[in-house]
Order: sequence, then C-alpha cells, then structure tokens
Amino acid sequence: MKQMLIAANWKMNKTRVESESFANELLSWVEKNNLRSKILICPPFINIPFVYNILCKTAVQIGAQNCFFEKEGAYTGEISPQMLVSVGCKYVIIGHSERRTHFGENDEVINRKIKSALASELKPIFCVGETLNEREMQLTNNVLERQIRIGLCAIDSNIMENIVIAYEPVWAIGTGISATTEQIDEAHNFIRKLLVDLFGNSGKAVLILYGGSLNSNNAYEIFSLENVNGGLIGKASLDVKEFIQIVEKSEQILS
Ligand code: PEP
Repeated sequence: MKQMLIAANWKMNKTRVESESFANELLSWVEKNNLRSKILICPPFINIPFVYNILCKTAVQIGAQNCFFEKEGAYTGEISPQMLVSVGCKYVIIGHSERRTHFGENDEVINRKIKSALASELKPIFCVGETLNEREMQLTNNVLERQIRIGLCAIDSNIMENIVIAYEPVWAIGTGISATTEQIDEAHNFIRKLLVDLFGNSGKAVLILYGGSLNSNNAYEIFSLENVNGGLIGKASLDVKEFIQIVEKSEQILS
C-alpha cells in the first residue's frame, strides 16, 4: 500500500510566536482527523522545542533542516544529530540545494551527514535534484545518479528503510514553477530503479518525496504518481491552512 509523508520545510522563517500559532492550529485540526498520511514539520533549530511541545502527543513528527556530521566538539555554530534527537527530532533534511549552493556542501559532506544521522537513529531526508542548466544539457539522470551513488555510499541496504529521498529540481524550488507531472514521473521512476539496482528489495521501501513549488493546486496530480510518496514543501508550508489542504490531497490519494 502507498505510504505518504508530507513534510514542511520552513527554512529561515517564523518567530517563536508564529511557530507556536501554526502548531496550535495544526494541533486542533489533527486532533479532529484520523490521518493515514504522516506529517512532519521542520522548523528552524531554535523553534524546534516550542513546536515539539505543542505537537508531541500527536502523530505529527518534528525534524530539523540540517545537522553536522560530528557528535560534539569545537564546531562553533553547528548542531549534532544527537542534539536533535534529544529535543524530539525524528528526521533531518540533508543536502538541500540551498545548503549546497550557499554553504558549499558537496556530495561527500552530504554522505558523512547522512551516515552520522543514521548512526543516531535520525532519519535523513536526502535532497537531490538538477539545476536548470543541467536539465537543459540533458544531464538530469547523470546528476541524480552521481548525487545518490555518492550520498548513499557505504550505507547498508538493511537501513535503507530509514532514508527518505526528496527529488527537488533546483529550478523549481521557490520559483512558483513546479516540474511537470511527466518530468516528476520520469525522475522518480529513475530514482526508484537506481535504488533497487543499488539496494535490491530495500530500495523499494524508500519513500521518494517531490519538492519544488508544490501547493494545494498541484498536489493531487503529483501525489497520484506511482513513485511519489509525498512532498517536501517550502513556501506553501508556511501557511497552516494551505499546508492542511495539501495534507488533505494526500489523504484523498490514500482513501
Ligand atoms: C524546498 O525548499 O524544499 C522547497 C520545495 O521549496 P518550495 O516549496 O518553496 O519550492
């Protein structure tokens, strides 16, 4: 049976009060609905405990947007997977294109972060995706294959069920222009096949999310695709009503 994960990536948005207000409104909706989709909220580090405190008695899970690969030590400004676990996180986004672009993260660093998160029983949401230039040069599959081969290097197939992949074409993130369903279908099928080639049956269990200008208008069509298991949502996740509508589309798919 299809599994769906609807994940909110708030990026560097929302104060404590704004985060709590979102969490309280989501709480009242979640308490009235018996949901089959999994919901995940990834606030900025500093607001994680406030959001966790409001939602911890529900099935809604909390994640972070990044972590470092070391456990502890002289790494000013960094946060370890263990610290995230200690404040209730179950997931961490790793390798988001904004981390690759603005903070110089490469495939090798991302691989170290994924391994470190898994060692702390934190589930990585591993982001992959091509730039517009790479797509125009017909390099999409080459880029996805390189990112996945290196990002998942030396990871045992028996822990693959703890990894989520997010296909996020860089040109679709925050632009209001989502990839077409054909482009998404093609990329997700390619990723699924690659995962099965690399990890056998374990590759079939990995959830593959789509991210890139996903909203309540295009969610149903995108979520209907066979190898789409939900979404990683930036801008449209900042408004609780819009976010709930996206979860409702996922529920329609699962009903
Ligand atoms: C993201 O940053 O992960 C993302 C998908 O952003 P947006 O939904 O705003 O395109």
